[in-house]
Amino acid sequence: MNKVLTIGEVLVEIVATTRGNGFLAAQPLVGPFPSGAPAIFIDQVGKLGTPCAIISRVGDDDFGRVNLKRLRADGVDVSGIEIAAGESTGSAFVRYREDGSRAFVYNIRHAACGKLRPTAASEALIESCTHLHVMGSAFSAPELGGMVMDAARRIKAQGGTISFDPNLRPELLDAPGMRAALAAVLAMTDLFMPSGEELFLFDAGRDEPAVIAALLDRGIRTVVVKRGAGGASLFQRGLRVDAKPLAVEEVDPTGAGDTFGGAFLSLWLAGSDPAEALRLANAAGARAVTRLGPMEGTSTRAELDALLSEQKG
Ligand code: ATP
Ligand code: MG
Repeated sequence: MNKVLTIGEVLVEIVATTRGNGFLAAQPLVGPFPSGAPAIFIDQVGKLGTPCAIISRVGDDDFGRVNLKRLRADGVDVSGIEIAAGESTGSAFVRYREDGSRAFVYNIRHAACGKLRPTAASEALIESCTHLHVMGSAFSAPELGGMVMDAARRIKAQGGTISFDPNLRPELLDAPGMRAALAAVLAMTDLFMPSGEELFLFDAGRDEPAVIAALLDRGIRTVVVKRGAGGASLFQRGLRVDAKPLAVEEVDPTGAGDTFGGAFLSLWLAGSDPAEALRLANAAGARAVTRLGPMEGTSTRAELDALLSEQKG
């Protein structure tokens, strides 16, 4: 039986209900919503019934409890989330600008999740899981990056598989050691899920078909390109499948990529037909953007089937 592991930040997100530039004046807010890219991803994996776990760290506070309760309810093994007495759970305040871009105030680096370290529980999970999902953003924090790299090497050596979502803002790319770390992960990757420009991270200056061919040639089994409101595409040796975007009303795009990734991985690991896995992941991403709050739009299989049959009819 497969069991999926991911490692990284768990935090709450608090969202301004007005649009505008940042937080320089008092704002009406809604939240706390459970959040953190790895947490959103693993919540979607859990909702589809795939055994899964996350290694993280929260404070002994309500922001931590909001996350633990949600992840547990959705089927995620939270034994690897350390509860750090006397520390605070990470948080992000977000306000959308009129143009759809986002302004953030973060408390992550100096919060509980910023001091992630191996524990007996996290070691046990690395030994028992058969798949690791890596987020490239992990390598912007050296301790977290080190833990992720160690887990990737061990899970691969145990005969497991690796999925990789670069999930990188361009300003993170030039952090010390970042490119070398990303290249090392890519060399272990079985399933690569970049979005947009991230496809060209390792291969600038060539067009999409050439970059995809090179990735498949180096032994990556499946490449899935996320295209936001443009849908998504899947590539395997000798196979290309495109998913047209579903027509949905975009309320909050945060978390769509992580939700898409969690859904695709669950189906891919279960050996589903690639076109079917893409179709369901495309629906999971579309459904994610219709809900306010980053993790509020993760879906059960029944919810995905309902959205797909609605759009057909
Ligand atoms: P994130 O901001 O979460 O990191 P991402 O860039 O990794 O996002 P996106 O490409 O934005 O990922 O979204 C993932 C998938 O969700 C898309 O490939 C598509 O299938 C679906 N999706 C996203 N936005 C929309 C939309 N507005 N309408 C329909 N489907 C969408
Ligand atoms: Mg992303």
